[in-house]
Amino acid sequence: MKRLSCQEVLDQLWEYLDDDARSELRTAIDGHLANCSHCQLEVDSIQHTIHLYQAKENVSVPVHLSEKLTNALNSAYKESGQSRD
Ligand SMILES: [Zn+2]
Repeated sequence: MKRLSCQEVLDQLWEYLDDDARSELRTAIDGHLANCSHCQLEVDSIQHTIHLYQAKENVSVPVHLSEKLTNALNSAYKESGQSRD
């Protein structure tokens, strides 16, 4: 099996973390990670970031809050439009 360098692992990390990653790529990177704590840390921090992202996307803005925001934006638009015209 082809051995990857740290740079090659880092270059392909996003592809590796993708659910559709090729199994040979996964195997190659898994093999590298087993022996390289530096790349393990890198993967950990990226996975952590991804989880934070996913957690944020799942949070929906409460309806009453988004209505308030829309109203505030609308009145702000109106006011700026009136003062300019
Ligand atoms: Zn490495």
